[in-house]
Amino acid sequence: MTDFLEKRVIVCGGGLAGLSAAVTALEDGACVTLMEKAPEVGGSSALSGGAIWAFADFEELRAAIPDGDAMLQWLVYDNIDAARDWLATQNVTLAAEELHAEQGRRARSINPPQAIAALADKFLKLGGQLRLESALDALIVVDGIVKGVRIAHGSCTQDEAAGAVVLATGGFQGNPELLSRYVVRNPDNLYLRANAWSTGDGFLAATQAGAAASPGLDTYYGHALAAPPARFSRLELRDMSQYYGQQAIAVNLRGERFADESDGTAEQVLNQRLAQQPGGRGFYIIDQELMDSPVIKGRPLLTRVIVGRAQAAKAPVIVAATIAELCRKLSAMGVPESKLFREITEFNRAIASQQADDLEPARRRNRKSLCKPPYYAIGVQASITFTMGGLQIDERARVLRRSGGSSPSSAVPPSRALTDADALSIGIGADYRQTAIAGLYAAGCDAGNMSHFDYMGGLAVALVTGRTAGNSAADYVRTIP
Ligand SMILES: Cc1cc2nc3c(=O)[nH]c(=O)nc-3n(C[C@H](O)[C@H](O)[C@H](O)COP(=O)(O)OP(=O)(O)OC[C@H]3O[C@@H](n4cnc5c(N)ncnc54)[C@H](O)[C@@H]3O)c2cc1C
Repeated sequence: MTDFLEKRVIVCGGGLAGLSAAVTALEDGACVTLMEKAPEVGGSSALSGGAIWAFADFEELRAAIPDGDAMLQWLVYDNIDAARDWLATQNVTLAAEELHAEQGRRARSINPPQAIAALADKFLKLGGQLRLESALDALIVVDGIVKGVRIAHGSCTQDEAAGAVVLATGGFQGNPELLSRYVVRNPDNLYLRANAWSTGDGFLAATQAGAAASPGLDTYYGHALAAPPARFSRLELRDMSQYYGQQAIAVNLRGERFADESDGTAEQVLNQRLAQQPGGRGFYIIDQELMDSPVIKGRPLLTRVIVGRAQAAKAPVIVAATIAELCRKLSAMGVPESKLFREITEFNRAIASQQADDLEPARRRNRKSLCKPPYYAIGVQASITFTMGGLQIDERARVLRRSGGSSPSSAVPPSRALTDADALSIGIGADYRQTAIAGLYAAGCDAGNMSHFDYMGGLAVALVTGRTAGNSAADYVRTIP
């Protein structure tokens, strides 16, 4: 007879993904323990803007993120309405759906601290056991089947038996070693725009146990933040995000444009290119007309509100009556004056003469020259919110093996079997089969490759994959004799 602890579900990480998994598994009849590394639950979910959004159209999602995993993207797209309705039944306050036509998104917003508190409360009311300051250290795997976790608490470690484990530790953006291995040459170029606890513990434990990493490990989500010497707290990360970058001229410290600023569905693509510039730093240059425009067409937030916040936090914000004066003032900060002047005037000339395609780099959208004084240059620093790559999961949130070998557990049939046509079209052997690691699930930022370079909404991914993982884990522990 199996001890009940050997049939429980252990969820590691108490952000939106982990709490959704934990409450779902309890509702499905499992006994659940939630391990949270920090002194409180919430993670980056609690710091977020709270817009649980999805693309309005799946074709648009695929066009924006063609290299992401289509099956997992579909999982989120197809289940987001039901998942948000479920959230509303958990005493989470959700606003009515808003359609943001300009971005092709439909969003329902939560108040993140209220949502986290409501889910944690529901978890405890359903009999879940919450362990704070308890960090996943390693997975316990016997004969290829997950049997529990090693938990670090202060300087002690303890083994905890489980029938299934859900990894929801929030990605590896807080781990400079993993960042330099997979993401950027110099992690110091990136501000951490996230909770401080997500250091890749789920990714490391699972890959040590033979899990496959997903594609897209080198891509990530973030927004340029107000640059040093600006000082701000983790609670102000959203206010310090310079979301209007796609409208601006973005230059690096050498005074060069380095990207088509308008590329991608929002500023996260520009942010990744900014990170590759010297120091991960640069300036967004705008004029008064852009300053008085909404950050996103049709939305109320004006660029000047964001710039005002950056200025108040003591970010470099230069104001000048002419482009020449702006360049002169920036030269005092080390940006070559004549180079920058040429770059801005060439940009303005190309836009005015409808030759923006010939710019190097070209400017494909938001073609507006800077011509209404005064002019502004705002110092920006690249940041990382979460790593888009992570563990490879299937449509039931099961973590897949790195090697194609067969699963030791009959309870876990082969998944993601490639059809012969798939195998031919991507040129690998038709007999390659990835199977799941019995008893192991991942959700939220620990699950990789839904976003890939461009972005599809972190809260929606956390909610849907969390629900899926909790449901799958509860189903699986029921099969343990
Ligand atoms: C400023 C900001 C604004 C954002 N705005 C939005 C928005 O409006 N809309 C949107 O869709 N997305 C937004 N996001 C992104 C979104 O918040 C994340 O994608 C999402 O919250 C990730 O959820 P998660 O549960 O995977 O991770 P998290 O919420 O970060 O939870 C991970 C948890 O795991 C814990 N943990 C880490 N290691 C361990 C371990 N070893 N053992 C146990 N626990 C561990 C952490 O402490 C944390 O509590 C925003 C993010 C930020 C930072």
